[in-house]
Amino acid sequence: MATATHCPYCALQCAMRLAPAAEGVSMNDGGAAASKGMSGPVAAQGPALTVAAGAGPAEAATGLAAPGTGLAVAGRDFPTNRGGLCRKGWSSSALLNSPERLTAPLLRGDDGSFRPIGWDEALDLAAGAVRSAQAMHGQDAVGVFGSGGLTNEKAYQLGKFARLALRTSRIDYNGRFCMSSAAAAGNRAFGLDRGLPFPLQDLDDAGTILLLGSNVADTMPPFVQHLKGARDAGGLIVVDPRRSATAALAGAGAGLHLAPTPGTDMVLLMGIAHVVLQEGLADTDYIARRTAGFEELRRSLNRWWPARVQEVTGVPAALIRETAHRLAGGARRASGQPVNGTGGTYILTGRGVEQHVDGADTATAAINLALLLGLPGSAHGGYGTLTGQGNGQGGREHGQKADQLPGYRKITDPAAREHVAAVWGVRPEDLPGPGVPAVEMLMSLGRPGGVRCLFVHGSNVAVSAPDANEVIAGLRRLDFLVVADFFMSETAAEADLVLPVLQWAEEEGTMTNLEGRVLRRRAAIDPPAGARSELWIMSELARRLEAPTNFSTDPETVFDELARASAGGPADYSGLGYPLLDSGAEAYWPYPAGSTGTRRLFMDSFAHADGRARLIAVAPAVPTDELHRPGELTLVTGRLLEHYQSGTQTRRVAELSAAQPGLALQIHPVTAHRLGIEAGDRVTIGNGRGTVTGVAEVTQDIRPDTVFLPFHFPGGQSANRLTPAATDPVSGMPEFKTSSVTVSVLEKAGAL
Ligand code: SF4
Repeated sequence: MATATHCPYCALQCAMRLAPAAEGVSMNDGGAAASKGMSGPVAAQGPALTVAAGAGPAEAATGLAAPGTGLAVAGRDFPTNRGGLCRKGWSSSALLNSPERLTAPLLRGDDGSFRPIGWDEALDLAAGAVRSAQAMHGQDAVGVFGSGGLTNEKAYQLGKFARLALRTSRIDYNGRFCMSSAAAAGNRAFGLDRGLPFPLQDLDDAGTILLLGSNVADTMPPFVQHLKGARDAGGLIVVDPRRSATAALAGAGAGLHLAPTPGTDMVLLMGIAHVVLQEGLADTDYIARRTAGFEELRRSLNRWWPARVQEVTGVPAALIRETAHRLAGGARRASGQPVNGTGGTYILTGRGVEQHVDGADTATAAINLALLLGLPGSAHGGYGTLTGQGNGQGGREHGQKADQLPGYRKITDPAAREHVAAVWGVRPEDLPGPGVPAVEMLMSLGRPGGVRCLFVHGSNVAVSAPDANEVIAGLRRLDFLVVADFFMSETAAEADLVLPVLQWAEEEGTMTNLEGRVLRRRAAIDPPAGARSELWIMSELARRLEAPTNFSTDPETVFDELARASAGGPADYSGLGYPLLDSGAEAYWPYPAGSTGTRRLFMDSFAHADGRARLIAVAPAVPTDELHRPGELTLVTGRLLEHYQSGTQTRRVAELSAAQPGLALQIHPVTAHRLGIEAGDRVTIGNGRGTVTGVAEVTQDIRPDTVFLPFHFPGGQSANRLTPAATDPVSGMPEFKTSSVTVSVLEKAGAL
C-alpha cells in the first residue's frame, strides 16, 4: 500500500508517495506533471528511484513495510510541486536501508572509539551528565541545540523538554542560521512572520517577480514552475552576485539579472526605493492608509540616488531605474491602473540577502520597497521570504528558539508564560527566561559560564555553523555531548553518547511548509530495531530527571497539546488536528479553533495593534570581516542542487554523491588567470580562521571579486571553516556571505 507523505528535505515539502518497491508506484503523475510548461531546471527531476530491498531485521507487523524494505518514490500532485520532485526527493528513500544507519546507542570509550550500549544505560548516563553539570555549574550549564528539520511535534517537545525537564534557558536551533533575519524583519514590519503570507500558486499570475538572494532553480527546482508567468511576461528579476541557474532563467528577454557586490543588497534595495519615490511610482494611497513611518523612511532614502548606488553596488544606474519601473508597472497594472505589463508584483528574499550581519535590516529594506509599492496584503502582489529547511517555518514557531514559547509567543511575555504554563501543568515561574542565540551558545561551549553538557537534535553544527573550527573545539571542550541522529554525522562523531533516532519515513508527525501550510508526515516503514523516536527519548529522560509534567511519546497527542499551547498566539494551530490534516484540508495558520485557517494574511490589516505595517529606516552596516584586506576575494557560500544542508544525508546517496563528490570553488576566469589557476586545479582557500581545499571551477558566472563555495562538505572541505561567527544584532543571524579569503594553487590539474 502506498503512503502519501512529503519529501524529507527542503521547505517546499514536495508531496510524494512511497510504496514497497515490489508493489510499484505509478510514476506517471510525478515527472510528467512537474515538467509542464517549463524547461530548464525542472528537467533536473528524473525517474523514480527504486531502492533494492536490504537485509534489515524483520519487525512486528504494524501495517507498515519492514525495515530494509525497498521503497519506490513517486511525485504526488499537490499545489506546490504539482507532482514534481528534484533529484534529492527522487533519491530520498535510498537512505532508509543505508548500511550506515545507526541502530544502537553508542558510547565513546577512553580510547576514543564507540561501543554499542543498551538504551537504559544510555539514558541513565545522559541524565547523570545533566545532573552533574548542573550541580557543578548551575542550571544553564546544560544546553539544547535543535533543528528546522524536526517535525512540529519534536520541535515543540524539545522546547518543553529544555525548560521543564532540563530546567535550562539554553536552547536554540539551526534555524537561527537560516530564517532569523527575515523572521525578525517580518515581525518588525508586519507584526507577524509567516514566510509566504500567501499561497505559492499566487505567484503563477505574477507579471513581475523580484527574487533576491535565492537560487531556487538549484535548491528547490519544482518551485520554478511558479516563476513561469513572470518569466513569460519578461518580468523575472533576479539579484545574485552569481549568474546562478535561477539568474540564468532571467536571460534572453525573460527578465533582468542584477549582480551587486556581495553585501550591498540593502543599498541596492534603497536605490530602487529611491527611484520609486522620486519618480512618482509609489502607491501613496496605500502608504497613507496602511503604513506608519513613511517620513523617516523617505528621509533615509534621499541619499541613495541611482548613480551613488551604482558606485556602491556596481549595478548600473539605468538597471536600477528599470527595475523600479518594472516593479511599479506590475503593481499598478494589477491594481487596475493603466500601465503596460501583466499580472502583479512580488518581492521575495532568500538567504543570499539575509545571511549578513545586517540581514534583518536588508530584509527590512525589501519589505520597505514592497510597502512603498502597495504590495503586502493586496490582491496584486506581496512580499515573502523563502524558507529553506524542511520545517524551517514550523520549527521557528513552537518553542525551540531561545526567546520563544509555543505559538510564536515571547517567553518574556507574562501572559504567554501563564498560558503555556497552564497547558504544561506548571507555574509560570517554573519556566526559565530567555536563553541566548545559537552562535553565542556555541561559542560558549565548555567555557566558564557556558554550556558544559549539550544535547544536539537534527543538526550537524560541526559543518553547518559558522567558524566551524571553533565550534568543533567547543564541542571537544564539553563535559558531555549527546547527539541524536540517524547517521554518524560529523557532530555525532564528536559526541560522548550518540542516540539513534528515526528517519522521516519511519515516523508520524507534521511539518509546516514555506507557505505556512501544515502538512502530515506519515510513516511508511517500521524503524530498525534499536532506533527510537526523539519523543520517546525525551519522555524517558524527563522521567529520570523527575520533570514536573508528562512528556507524551505519541505524535498525535503531542500535536494536540501543541495546538492547545499555541491557542491565541500568533501561530495559532488550535483548530488543527490529525483527522483534519489527514482529510487533505488546506491548513494555513493562523488556524484558530472554529476557523478554516488563513490562506492570505494582512488583507484587511497587519498584525500590529493599529493594523498598520511599519516602514523602518535602515542603514548598511560597516563591512564586518575583520580579516578583509584590499585585493582579497569575497567568499559567498550556498547550496548545490544535489545536496542538502550539511550533507549528512545527501552525501550518503550514491547518485548524489557521484554528481557532486566534493568541494569545488567557482572563480571568474580573469581572477583565475591572475592567480595562475586553471580549471581542475586543486586550490587552497583560506583566511585567518582556517583553510580548505577544493577543485577550481573557472566560470564566467561569477563576479571577478567573488568566489563561491558550497557548504555541504566536512573537514578540509568545510566552507564554514572560513565564515565568521559575527552575527546580526537584531536576529542573531551569522554572516555567511561576505567572508574575505585568499585563493592559491595547491596542485595543478595535470599533476593530480
Ligand atoms: S525541492 Fe527537492 S528537496 Fe525540496 S522538497 Fe522538493 S523534492 Fe525535496
